[in-house]
Amino acid sequence: MEVSTITNYIKNLVTTPSPTGFTKLCEGYLIDELTKLGYDPYQNNKGNVIVPIVEGDANGLLLSAHIDTLGLMVRSIKENGRLRVTNLGGYPLAYAEGENVKIHTRDGKEYSGVFRLNEPAVHGSRAPYDEKRDDTTMEVVIDAITKSDKETRELGISPGDFISLDPRFRIDNGFVKSRHLDDKASAGVLLALAKEVKEKNIEINRPLYLEFTIYEEVGHGAASGHPGGIRDMVAVDMGVVYDDLTADETMVSICAKDSSGPYNYDLTNELIGIAKDLGIDYGVDVYPFYGSDASAAVSSANDFRHALLGAGIAASHGYERTHEKALISLFDLLVNFIQK
Ligand SMILES: [Zn+2]
Repeated sequence: MEVSTITNYIKNLVTTPSPTGFTKLCEGYLIDELTKLGYDPYQNNKGNVIVPIVEGDANGLLLSAHIDTLGLMVRSIKENGRLRVTNLGGYPLAYAEGENVKIHTRDGKEYSGVFRLNEPAVHGSRAPYDEKRDDTTMEVVIDAITKSDKETRELGISPGDFISLDPRFRIDNGFVKSRHLDDKASAGVLLALAKEVKEKNIEINRPLYLEFTIYEEVGHGAASGHPGGIRDMVAVDMGVVYDDLTADETMVSICAKDSSGPYNYDLTNELIGIAKDLGIDYGVDVYPFYGSDASAAVSSANDFRHALLGAGIAASHGYERTHEKALISLFDLLVNFIQK
């Protein structure tokens, strides 16, 4: 597998907006790609995209990645025609300061804009230096001529409209930089895995499903609606890179424990064993502030063994960065794992 196959999938995914709660465009992209590869993807009631690779009633393996991302939503339209926002997902609003955005109206129109301080001009005020960043000091200015609440409403923009952030995807010297690598880096790896299984006719000895979830950033992505017969669920999600943790952006990160508690002992050991056998650069880490789709699944009446791993992603929930080396290592580990 060329790493460019993986990074092209990631590029297509991150440039298809899917703030949590408005993921239809990205669901459509996945269904098209997976259908082209020869699969029959379907969606559960909530909208997760499920891909049966090998079907069966028992001992199934589910690999999940989430395609919903952080974003914003219109909270209200201000008297000056600009937009007050609310967060979608958890992050400091300062992480989106100065970012280009797209406003997606509920009747299918799109407007561009910028998310910035109410008083962003250094030549006009001290606010850029002194102001706290929150939803009262920051706003979205729309790239349309509007100076009032009424004129903005006439554009078709309303409270409750979704706003996506420009991902600014680029690759420099092997470093993949973009917003939303959490978790579209993993979704890209799973697409590449699906392609590899078809093209190389990889033999798999147990039921295997991929699931692309759409509400992870708000906690219930994988709470329900899985195929029957699953025994093991591995959430493929971003590995935390932090000062005292082992994995960095070039490595695979295997999570032993996050805010939800420890992951399944035996399943986690299996992943570590494969990483060792293959000579993959990996770290086993504890994620201080984290919950995954796998932890959501086991805390909502699913009797699964659960595990979590992913490529090391730095600057999570901001302008994120990983390395091609981590992506290809994660891919190799998963190709090996599904053949066990
Ligand atoms: Zn994530």
